Order: sequence, then C-alpha cells, then structure tokens
Amino acid sequence: MSSTKGILYVIATPIGNLHDFSPRACRLLQEVHLIVAEDTRHSRYLLAHFNISTPLQALHQHNERHAIELLLPRLLRGDNIALISDAGTPLISDPGRLLVEAAHLQHITVIPIPGPCALISALSVAGLNTDQFVFEGFLPSKHLARQKRLEELKPETRTLIFYEAPHRLLECLQDMLTSFGDQRILVLAKELTKIFETVYRGPIIEVINWLTTLPERQKGEFVLVVKGAEPVEIESLSSEVQHIFKTLQQELPLKQAARLTSQLTGVSKNKLYALGLEQQP
Ligand code: SAM
Repeated sequence: MSSTKGILYVIATPIGNLHDFSPRACRLLQEVHLIVAEDTRHSRYLLAHFNISTPLQALHQHNERHAIELLLPRLLRGDNIALISDAGTPLISDPGRLLVEAAHLQHITVIPIPGPCALISALSVAGLNTDQFVFEGFLPSKHLARQKRLEELKPETRTLIFYEAPHRLLECLQDMLTSFGDQRILVLAKELTKIFETVYRGPIIEVINWLTTLPERQKGEFVLVVKGAEPVEIESLSSEVQHIFKTLQQELPLKQAARLTSQLTGVSKNKLYALGLEQQP
C-alpha cells in the first residue's frame, strides 16, 4: 500500500436522531479534502449543524460511474475522501458500491466509520433470531414480482429483514400474509430514533390490523423483520419419500427434485425444498 495515496472513508450518519452522529465521524468529515454525498442539499443540513464546511460533491445512482472518473485520480494523488449517504450506512440500499470497488482495484485504503443502520437497529429490538439473518433490502415494487420473491423466501428459516416505502407498506404486508401465512411473527420498526418511533411486534394479521386502525400509522420510514420459517425435520418424511427425494437430488437441481418428489408423493414442494436447503453443505 502506497502512503502517498489518499484514504476513502465510508462514514455512517444518523437515521433520524442527530445525537447518534459519532465524534469520530464528525472529526473526519471536517478533516477530509472532499465529502461525496448522495444528495448534497440533504447533507448540507447535517454538515451545517456540526459546523463542517468541507467541499461537497454529489454521487448518486445516476452519476456514480462518471463521479468515479473524477474521484479516483484525486484519491491516487493523496486526497482523503469521505463517502456519506442521506441517512445511515452508505452502500446499505444506498449508492457507493462502484466507488468502493474501484478504490479497492486501485489498492486505495477503504476505512469504515461505523454508526447507525436501520436494519441492524430494527434487528436488535425485534427479539427474533439474530444468529443468522437475511437482508433483502427493498422487495420488487410490482405485485407479481414481489409475490414471486416472497414465495421463494417462504421456506427460508433465517430471520428476514426488508426495507419498505410507506406507500407500499400495506400491499407488501398483504403479499407477506399470502406467502408466509397470517400467523408468522413480524416486527414493524417505524421511524427509528425519531419522535414517532414505534416497534410493533405480532402475527402478520395483527400488524396489518394495527396499521389500518389508524391510517397515520402508515406514515414514516419502516423496517420489517420477519421470523424465519420453522425448520422441517427430515424424519417427518416416510423412508420411501426420503429415498425418492435423495435419489432425485443426485440427478437434478434441488428445485426440480423437490417438484418431482412432490408430484410423486403428494408431500409439499415447499417443505421438500426447505429440507433440501437445510441439508446442503
Ligand atoms: N443506508 C440506510 C441504512 O443504513 O439503513 C438505508 C437507506 S434506504 C434508501 C432507506 C430505507 O431505510 C427506508 O425506506 C426505510 O425502509 C429504512 N430506514 C431508514 N431510516 C429509518 C428509520 N429511521 N426508521 C425505520 N426505517 C428506516
């Protein structure tokens, strides 16, 4: 690593409460040569609040490639650059991945300055399994594509975490109800660290009822944390079904083996698929 090159800092900023801004993040944003922000107008508010007057440049999903062409030479010349997003941790459902990747390819040091992140905050208060979890980000916005993805996730036994926009929240929950069943436990983490912060936990049907009782409850920013599917035991299948499934798995991809075993034996395709996933090394 050459000491003449600059450093790319990836800096987390608050997801609501400005007191969550770390002193280290604040100091580095004052010290770097340039701050790259998703929306410069939005970030100016945060930076002004902390008396940070470092020059700002935009980097969003529409200009990321072009921005990199300007930023990489500066990093290579020795400038230190900080990447921030509108809220929380950059790259987590936010731009910056291409810049970080490009920096690595040029052997530029990339340093994380950790801090708020909506998904981790929600998970930490959900009271669900945190040993293994899956972050799905935003589900597809169109109903059919969303339903298809949720069907694929139905047998997933790890805790599932989603981001969702307020105007799609109810339709998304209705689709989850269709795929996961009305009794699957869901934790709705709303407006975390802000005035109307609420964490509501219950079966999906109850969460939908809670939201529709008072429509203003549907306003704000949301993380959805969903309990994983119950693991399926291989012993719950008869030895004949186990034999057919194992034989087909030796010849076919898991999905097809589960579908054919289901057709031959009447055992649920999803159950077989979940079992097959669990048994994979
Ligand atoms: N980079 C951010 C992070 O570290 O969490 C996420 C950015 S993503 C574009 C924005 C989504 O994150 C929102 O639509 C919402 O789902 C979630 N989110 C952000 N802030 C939140 C908050 N204060 N409370 C609940 N969810 C939040």
